[in-house]
Amino acid sequence: MRYLSALLFGALVSVQSLAIELDSGIPDDQARSLESDQAYLKKLQFQNGPNDEVTRKLLGLKGGLSAQSLQEWLDARVKLVISEKMDLEAAIMVAPGVASYPEPKSFPKPDATKPRPKEQSNGSASEPVLIMSNTGTALYMMAKQNRILLALKKTDGDLLPIFSPREGMIQIGKGLFLERFRVSPSAQNLPANALSRLSTLFHESRHSDGHGATLGFMHAICPEGHAYAGYPACDKNLNGPYTVGAQTLNSLIAACGECTTKEKTTLKMIEADSRSRVLSTFRDAEGRVQKAVSWSDRPERMISFARTKGNDLE
Ligand SMILES: [Zn+2]
Repeated sequence: MRYLSALLFGALVSVQSLAIELDSGIPDDQARSLESDQAYLKKLQFQNGPNDEVTRKLLGLKGGLSAQSLQEWLDARVKLVISEKMDLEAAIMVAPGVASYPEPKSFPKPDATKPRPKEQSNGSASEPVLIMSNTGTALYMMAKQNRILLALKKTDGDLLPIFSPREGMIQIGKGLFLERFRVSPSAQNLPANALSRLSTLFHESRHSDGHGATLGFMHAICPEGHAYAGYPACDKNLNGPYTVGAQTLNSLIAACGECTTKEKTTLKMIEADSRSRVLSTFRDAEGRVQKAVSWSDRPERMISFARTKGNDLE
């Protein structure tokens, strides 16, 4: 999940013509931006230099790094984009029956949190704003814990059963488009702004991966002394959402012929901010120093579902 208060950041995407579906509840101007971002990604050409090779290996892409291989990686992890305005309480249905899941007792272990001093809110930049959130993975986890099957009723009425985080349901908010979060404030759909949104999409897509203890590539609480100390805004692995967002952004910046030097500098700052959230060493629950490693990105999927009555979702 990615809520940001006062930082520049942006993000996301989609496409009627590609595999990612935009829920009809997404505001038109946001949908146009997401489509324009996808169209821009499609046009990018990559040199496949050493940094692109790091990106290719990180994402496990076959062949070279290309617009198509990046798009396919996203398509496997994001299938539906919904608006923050969707009333999830009304839209989430429980299928009548019992579901069985792999590694039924294995879940990510969230870090213990210490109470933080109450923040002052002046109703402006410090107000949390939703940029993008992998809601599908959160729902999958909730369903697994309760051995149930959940489905989302889209705005047009169709149902999306959440058999796996790879069902890829991502929620976007106005933070993705706010002028103050843009790399270049002048226009929403400039290439530099598209790259920032795409980087956030790659970050969020990584939350569709993992299984058991790595399910969803959950964030860790940033340690004392970190710029985000006390917030779940760090990764204790080397291939999680912050690494994926940073490394793909690195390749996107290199491929952006239209980006100005100033825009590239700002994008590099976003990349550096993401990298600063990757904890290469950290203290475990017993206080021992551990070195971060790469996590398994194998995804989870419901094994079976035994219906108890009727055929309808309640
Ligand atoms: Zn995240």
